[in-house]
Amino acid sequence: MEKLFNESVTVLNGVGAKRAEALKKLGIETLWDLFTYFPFRYEDLTVQDIETIEDRQKVVLQGTAIAQAHVQYYGYKKSRLSFRINVDHVIVPITFFNQPYLAQQIVEGEEIKVFGTWDASRMQLSGIKIIGGSTVNKNEKFEPIYHSSKEISHAVIKKLVVQAWDKYQGEIQEVIPEELISKYQLIPIKEAIYNMHFPKSPAVMDTARSTIVFMEFLIFQLRVQYRRLQHKNIGTGQAIHYNLERLKIFFSSLSFELTKAQKEAVNAISADMKRPIQMYRLLQGDVGSGKTIVAAGAIVAAQSANVQSAFMAPTEILAEQHFQSLQAIYKDFDINVVLLTSSTSAKERRELLIDLKKGKIDCVVGTHALIQEDVIFSHLGLVVIDEQHRFGVNQRKDLREKGEHPDVLFMTATPIPRTLSMTAYGEMDVTTINEMPPGRLPIKTYWIRKKQLKNLMNTIMKELKKDSQIYVISPLIEESDALDLENATRLAEIYRQTFSPAYRVALLHGRMQAIDKEEIMQQFKKHEIDILVSTTVIEVGVDVSNATMMVIHDADRFGLAQLHQLRGRVGRGQKQSYCILVADPKGENGVKRMQIMTESTDGFKISQKDLEMRGPGEYFGKKQSGLPEFKVADIVEDESVLEAARYEAADLLMAETFLQNDAYHNLRTSVGIEDGRINDILD
Ligand code: ADP
Ligand code: MG
Repeated sequence: MEKLFNESVTVLNGVGAKRAEALKKLGIETLWDLFTYFPFRYEDLTVQDIETIEDRQKVVLQGTAIAQAHVQYYGYKKSRLSFRINVDHVIVPITFFNQPYLAQQIVEGEEIKVFGTWDASRMQLSGIKIIGGSTVNKNEKFEPIYHSSKEISHAVIKKLVVQAWDKYQGEIQEVIPEELISKYQLIPIKEAIYNMHFPKSPAVMDTARSTIVFMEFLIFQLRVQYRRLQHKNIGTGQAIHYNLERLKIFFSSLSFELTKAQKEAVNAISADMKRPIQMYRLLQGDVGSGKTIVAAGAIVAAQSANVQSAFMAPTEILAEQHFQSLQAIYKDFDINVVLLTSSTSAKERRELLIDLKKGKIDCVVGTHALIQEDVIFSHLGLVVIDEQHRFGVNQRKDLREKGEHPDVLFMTATPIPRTLSMTAYGEMDVTTINEMPPGRLPIKTYWIRKKQLKNLMNTIMKELKKDSQIYVISPLIEESDALDLENATRLAEIYRQTFSPAYRVALLHGRMQAIDKEEIMQQFKKHEIDILVSTTVIEVGVDVSNATMMVIHDADRFGLAQLHQLRGRVGRGQKQSYCILVADPKGENGVKRMQIMTESTDGFKISQKDLEMRGPGEYFGKKQSGLPEFKVADIVEDESVLEAARYEAADLLMAETFLQNDAYHNLRTSVGIEDGRINDILD
């Protein structure tokens, strides 16, 4: 729509260069921006019955002015204006401070409507404004309140909206296709815009809002899906003609059967690989849901088609771990996997790179740097990226545009609620593994208070006696590494006093050198350490199957997603695992988080709760979230509308008429599609 109606606000009276600049700061440059600069709340201007109002309530009273107003000046520029009105035979005194000019609007014997704050004990009103005066229309039922700025007041914005509406409403064109308006019981856009600003009733406002939300989501979905389609149609991807037999042999060589969700993931991925389009798929599933084996299958498929794979992890230790898992998985299978990290010796590295270039290596595992460095493949066909949410939007783009257009499979163990993946990763296909392999023992989670430390120590002792290992997470103090360290050190000392020398306690913290961290992690893996006290530096995905207990101190300082991630460090072996949250949460939210954690081990459920409690921006971290901004729509609250819009967008794109028929011209323009090409300027 912005493309349909992009006249500058300077066409309005009273908007010169200076005011235009101020409006720009509020994001208002065009008339369309102004029309869609919706109020963030409304003041209810319905006249109230004096009998029913409560103390301090903001109300509108209507009555007859009994006498002219009296203005009293005092101090510097200070004044008090007072008068009385007769409201159904009750005489109500009204006072306005520092608005002496209102006196002209109060005429003895005339009806007047005043908005103000009610003082029940004195039966008087502290006036805020007169309705029917210069800023509030006499018939207004709900006054729109706009976010304003230092330079531009709410009242000015309102006047501009009114002026724009009076002069330019005729130019607002319909965007939503007729059939969808009636299918979803929406109203025309023009009407919706009007009712968003000047609703006559809450019901009218709701319909207007639904319409705008639908429009926003529809345009967004069309944009994302159209781009994805185009991307696919360009045909830059590789068709990887893998050997199905070999893939089947690989999976049947495993000691277990894939879960239904894993099978579906394998099918989706292999279908992507076969097509001459670049795969761009996100595989999400809780820790331990079996993503790695699915990726391993994709690598087998690639190898069977004589193309190479790169497997990238965010850190060296994770790369190494993946390397080890792959080696174990391919134990009886002829796949040549190598590890390339900064600890690879220069000589080894040189040889590896030569082999890679010659095509002697099927899969190279490394950190994200793999793709950026001058590592040359003979024929790179598949890139697997673990923990993709640490991967910024731009890096994702880099990868997509890389020369050979390899198929890309992202993996994440941070489950994202569907709504979020639909928005943040709209350009990707998303596959979800939503079930755990059978026979897993769910982690038991308990929440204890700080004063129960002694019990905790006893519990830990029992667990240690079973030859198990323990993770201990020390309280996180944001923005202070030094304090984190201090805390962790103190905590490690407490654990040492209790368990040393019978059990070995080590400390891992953020200020340590990377190699020292790795050294400690390796020791823990080898069970040379029994209790690992750590700030949150324990890497996501580090796998120590003998660790069966995760103790999180001051657990209320962590977000739900983080707690779930931390808990996922245990429960990787055959033994029953436990997570113990130690916290005295102060607020209601903290208590709720602890409760959710003890009640659920389902990462999707937890992240959905997290999203609801924190809101999408917070949830994702604003900076690199890549989340689109909507003016009205809310991806959590309006989830069902987003679903509907997604569905309708796909439907529209499937029909040829959308790209050709004049009926969709406005919608196409709003999406930014011109001559069948998407106009990227809009982003
Ligand atoms: P993720 O990568 O999702 O964290 P992994 O692929 O590491 O999960 O799998 C965790 C463990 O479960 C591994 O030891 C793996 O061999 C095993 N596993 C994977 N899929 C299955 C399955 N379908 N049945 C039984 N065990 C499985
Ligand atoms: Mg894994």
